[in-house]
Amino acid sequence: MLKKELPGVKKQVPLAAHTTFNIGGPAEYFLPATTQKEILRAIKTAKKIKLPVFVMGGGSNLLVSDSGVRGLVVKNQVTSPVVLKKNNVVEAPAGAVLGKVIDFSISKSLQGLEWAGGLPGTFGGGIRGNAGAFGGEMKDTIVSVRALDDQFNLRKLSNGESGFSYRSSIFKRKNWVVLSAQVKLKKGNKKKLKEISNSRKDYRKEKHPLEYPNAGSVFKNVAVKDLAPIFQSEFADKVKQDPFPIVPAAWFIIGAGLAGKKVGRAQISQKHSNYIVNLGGAKAKDVLALIDMVKNNVKNKYGIVLEMEVQYLE
Ligand SMILES: Cc1cc2nc3c(=O)[nH]c(=O)nc-3n(C[C@H](O)[C@H](O)[C@H](O)COP(=O)(O)OP(=O)(O)OC[C@H]3O[C@@H](n4cnc5c(N)ncnc54)[C@H](O)[C@@H]3O)c2cc1C
Repeated sequence: MLKKELPGVKKQVPLAAHTTFNIGGPAEYFLPATTQKEILRAIKTAKKIKLPVFVMGGGSNLLVSDSGVRGLVVKNQVTSPVVLKKNNVVEAPAGAVLGKVIDFSISKSLQGLEWAGGLPGTFGGGIRGNAGAFGGEMKDTIVSVRALDDQFNLRKLSNGESGFSYRSSIFKRKNWVVLSAQVKLKKGNKKKLKEISNSRKDYRKEKHPLEYPNAGSVFKNVAVKDLAPIFQSEFADKVKQDPFPIVPAAWFIIGAGLAGKKVGRAQISQKHSNYIVNLGGAKAKDVLALIDMVKNNVKNKYGIVLEMEVQYLE
C-alpha cells in the first residue's frame, strides 16, 4: 500500500546515517522527499492509514532511540529554489540547508542571516525551533512562513502569527510542517558579511567539540530570573544576553563536576560541557544515561530542572 502511494519509500532504514549524532535505530519506513508534493502526499497517506509520521530536516537536533522509530520518517530534501524577490526579500524551501541560504543571501550583499554561520540543519528546522546564536534568532528576519497544519490546511503566517519564542514557535507547539519561508534582509557589504559568517564558523570550530558527532547543545540555557538569588550571585560573571539574560547550561554541568563523564561510548564534552559527544559507537541509551545524570546532579546542587534542547525520538 505505502510503496504504491509513495514510490520512493524504503523499509527499515537506519537513522544513525541521517543524524549528526550518528546514533539511532531504523525507521520502519523512510522517505527522502525532494518535492513539496511528495511531502504532502506522504503525510496524507500516513494519516489515512493511521501510521505515525515524522518530518525531519538535517537531523542536527535529534537523538533517535536504539530500537528505531515506528511509522514513516520523511526527510525534507526540498532544497530549491532559493530566490531573491523584490525589496531584499529571500525565499527558500524548508529543506534548504541553512548554510546555503546564508551563503546565497551574502552573495547578494544582503545582511541579516550572517550570525548563523556554521549553524547546522535546514532552514525549516531552524524556523520551527527559532534557532539562535550570538544574539541572533531566526525570528529576527522572518516575514512569512508557509506551513501545513494538522488538518492539512496550507497556511501562510506572518512573523507575529508564527508565535516565536526562545527555541520555539507555533510550528513546534502545534506540530505543523514548515514548507517554505521569506526573510527580509538589508543591503550590506558582501566582504564584511562573509567575514562575520566565517568568524562564527571559526568560533564554533575552536569552542565546540565538532571533531566528534554530536547534536549541539543538549540543554536549554537557564534564564537568570529562574535561579535562586544565591546562584544569581555565584554565576553573575557568566550571564549572557542571548537573547535575554541567561546563564549557559554548561556552567551548571561543570559546577556539578560532570565535564568529561562517560557512559559507554558517549561523553560529556570537556571542550563544551553542554555537548554530549559520540566517541564512536555510542548508543542512545548511553546518551540518555548521561542526560539523566546531568539532570539529577544539577537539580540536587542548584535546584533547577534543565530542559532538553535536543529532541529524543522513539
Ligand atoms: C554542532 C551543532 C551546533 C548547533 N548549534 C546551534 C545553535 O547555535 N543554535 C541553535 O539554535 N541550534 C543549534 N544546533 C541545533 C540544530 O542545528 C538546530 O536546532 C537546527 O535548527 C535543527 O534543524 P534540522 O533541520 O537539523 O532539524 P532536525 O534535527 O531534523 O529536526 C529537529 C526538529 O525539527 C522538526 N523539523 C525539521 N524540519 C521541519 C519542518 N520543515 N517543519 C516542521 N518541523 C521540522 C523535526 O520534526 C524535529 O522535531 C546545533 C547542532 C549541532 C549539531
